[in-house]
Amino acid sequence: MKVLVVGSGGREHALAWKLAQSPRVQIVYVAPGNGGTALDERMRNVPITDLSALADFVVKEGIAFTLVGPEAPLAAGIVNLFRSRGLKVFGPTQEAAQLESSKDFAKAFMKRHGIPTAEYETFTDVAAAHAYVDSKGAPIVIKADGLAAGKGVVVAMSLDEAHAAIDSMLADNTLGDAGARVVIEEFLSGEEASFIVMVDGKHVLPLASSQDHKRLLDADQGPNTGGMGAYSPAPIVTPQLHARVMREIIQPTIRGMEKEGIRYTGFLYAGLMIDAQGNPKTLEFNCRMGDPETQPIMSRLKGDFSKVVEAAISGELDAVELSWDRRTALGVVLAAHGYPEAPRKGDRISGIPAETETSVTFHAGTTLDGDTLTTTGGRVLCVVGLSDSVRGAQSAAYETINRIEFDGMQYRRDIGYRALNRKH
Ligand code: ATP
Repeated sequence: MKVLVVGSGGREHALAWKLAQSPRVQIVYVAPGNGGTALDERMRNVPITDLSALADFVVKEGIAFTLVGPEAPLAAGIVNLFRSRGLKVFGPTQEAAQLESSKDFAKAFMKRHGIPTAEYETFTDVAAAHAYVDSKGAPIVIKADGLAAGKGVVVAMSLDEAHAAIDSMLADNTLGDAGARVVIEEFLSGEEASFIVMVDGKHVLPLASSQDHKRLLDADQGPNTGGMGAYSPAPIVTPQLHARVMREIIQPTIRGMEKEGIRYTGFLYAGLMIDAQGNPKTLEFNCRMGDPETQPIMSRLKGDFSKVVEAAISGELDAVELSWDRRTALGVVLAAHGYPEAPRKGDRISGIPAETETSVTFHAGTTLDGDTLTTTGGRVLCVVGLSDSVRGAQSAAYETINRIEFDGMQYRRDIGYRALNRKH
């Protein structure tokens, strides 16, 4: 069969890589894809981003199903469009994707359904927002309501920072419509974890746990990024915590959506903050898999993923049992010079070794021109190492990284440090 993955990042390369391992899958089309998906003979890049043209392509090629990676096409209604044309697609509808595309919607939804999350208020009025922040004090968190590609959240450690964020979003419109409304919420401290499940409208199938590293620099310093590395499993997600998150966060979310007339299908990602007592709160929902969490998660998934996606599309996830490589998979992101503010493009990449039993390199911001691979900015590659121990997985990833070169390459040297601290 032929299948389609929508997107161009490391997450999409990892999803395509996993689907391509299925003996039933002949070609994985990736729209628009990247240098890594261009290099893989089992994959074919499709330079189409217009959703309706993409649906035409799916019909013409007889593609069995479509898996959507990023939030933008989901929020734009790709699932609604494909379904209306009778095409099989896995992802949430535009209405369901509001859990991610509007933070105000998500927060109000959590409040209505008693799902643990930070206290908050929503504002469109600048003066009211300033007054609220003054009444609450710092630290405090200012979030643009709409999608802002990871740039819409300011964790303000001082009142000055909080006021500046409000001015930037509400008064100066630096984020456009996405920041025309802001959610201001209580600062939560603790350790973050990513909890990702697949939902078929009725049944929920949890994927392996994972943890990501959002800050640019070692020891969680520097600006927030899309994610600089991730590993799976995350030891902080004990079986007890897992059961509690399913009971208190995931199930009430799916049931709550249903009560409100929205049938949830697709990946659902709850970003968790776990406090010192082990109590989880929901920081955010994403209606898709995480990037870079997908890379280590897919590296550990065993079996035929195309069958899992088909079962999810036909509402039969209850019949699926996932099995996981027992090893730890740890992915380190190699980012371009200037990332995240002003990533440079056009640096030539060399030295990426072939995949082995203990290491695989996923592409993100790369392009293939003839035989030459160059950077196209942002996060360029994600190198995953696999081993029985976190330390071993870390060594496997960094050994591969030592062979890869491009000008201005930046990456963290401490991916996995929380898991290592926990084990000692
Ligand atoms: P993503 O790019 O993951 O989709 P986002 O832009 O939607 O992120 P959030 O995940 O809501 O934004 O927040 C980004 C980061 O800011 C979180 O991972 C967390 O580190 C921090 N953060 C968000 N909310 C809070 C909070 N209430 N207290 C403390 N830190 C927070």
